Amino acid sequence: MLFFVAQFIHAQQNKNPNIIIIMTDDMGYGDVGFNGCKDIPTPNIDRIAAAGAVFTAGHVSFAVCSPSRAGLLTGRYSQRFGYERNVLYMPKDAAMGLSLDEETIADALGRAGYRSMLVGKWHLGAHPSFHPLKRGFNEFFGFLGGGHQYFPSALQIADPLSVDDEGSSYKTKLNRGLAVVEEQEYITDAFSREAVSFVDRNRNNPFFLYLTYNAPHTPLQAPDQYVSRFKHIADNKRRTYAAMVSAIDDGVGKLFYKLKETGQDKNTLLFFLSDNGGPLDNGSSNHPLSGKKGNLYEGGIRVPFAMQWQGVIPAGITYEKPIISLDIFATALGSLQKTVKTKNPLDGVNLIPYLTGKKMGAPHEILFWRNQDMKAYAAINAEGKKLWMKGDTTFLFDLGNRGQETRNTADEYPDLVQKMKKQVAEWEKGLKTPAFLGLSQRDEYIRLREKANLPK
Ligand code: CA
Repeated sequence: MLFFVAQFIHAQQNKNPNIIIIMTDDMGYGDVGFNGCKDIPTPNIDRIAAAGAVFTAGHVSFAVCSPSRAGLLTGRYSQRFGYERNVLYMPKDAAMGLSLDEETIADALGRAGYRSMLVGKWHLGAHPSFHPLKRGFNEFFGFLGGGHQYFPSALQIADPLSVDDEGSSYKTKLNRGLAVVEEQEYITDAFSREAVSFVDRNRNNPFFLYLTYNAPHTPLQAPDQYVSRFKHIADNKRRTYAAMVSAIDDGVGKLFYKLKETGQDKNTLLFFLSDNGGPLDNGSSNHPLSGKKGNLYEGGIRVPFAMQWQGVIPAGITYEKPIISLDIFATALGSLQKTVKTKNPLDGVNLIPYLTGKKMGAPHEILFWRNQDMKAYAAINAEGKKLWMKGDTTFLFDLGNRGQETRNTADEYPDLVQKMKKQVAEWEKGLKTPAFLGLSQRDEYIRLREKANLPK
């Protein structure tokens, strides 16, 4: 116990911790060892959980990539600023991206002296005004769109700003800052390499690393080096998916090694999560949850989620109360020596006191989701009761400790249903309508653009 207290004082009083967010893309809840995955070993990712906390009810704020990332990076429900759809890849459209009225976690940490890097997928607007280097990041290595080809031989388009459709955006060369890179490696390995280099180069100053792998998002592509580890998996998709996850896990291992080698492992606050639930058609599994990417069942919004800060957060915590990716921003700021004010009010809360036992109770009285295009809403309260609404249909589920949505209890608890509906309506007053057309409205977008004679 004395050791723990000493470490706590050291980390709390001497200097600001490094902050790392490792985000995977379209990874299922059941696809990490710490959530019980049997066929894909993830020993390095599991070390995060073993050294800190697993959030069994860790959620993201949206069930698809782009709005989920907007929520994570701003610490706010993205519907507050009209970010409720997957952005289209439109480098000429200065409205198709993360509102410039919002600041990112990298902006806020920059004011506290952090050096920040984004490695991997951006997906918050391809117009130059939204570029990561203009959103608080000092360095960028990756691509601007929503997904990418994985093998360097497929990266044939030199200028990412020259295309305006998703398929072509997948084939652009990678960028370092604004420069074009002639990448030679499988891009998951390239992202791991760049993350390790950034950690190595910033051993003497606090840094923020946002490592956002596009794996295991489609297309399903992996080199034999990884695929050959999974001969025991008969299903082709699942085998390649497993290989892609395994490549990430290797990268996490290399990152850990570098943190330890440079003496930073004990002074680093690290988060791991997926940007939304598994879509299943990429070979992912959300076991034991129902639903998938895109919908508001738990399988769409509950993700693999773990966090560590050695010496501050006790090891081996299983935390079951509902939390959300919006908490990452507030938790990062909560780890700093001095208060950093944010431009806009955050929706997340600092989770650290809940993990150290300083605060009891639940971090959130209630969490909310809305997808206006689908006329869908969800809310989860501190007791794990979930309201799910679509059109005129209302369900109430008791999620229990496994996130089950098997029995509708709305008729048994009419008062609770009414209360939660009221809370949703109150929350919605602070939201805007969607600010731009998205991936699902692509045809309409093109039609309107042509009608208005806007630049392509
Ligand atoms: Ca995704």
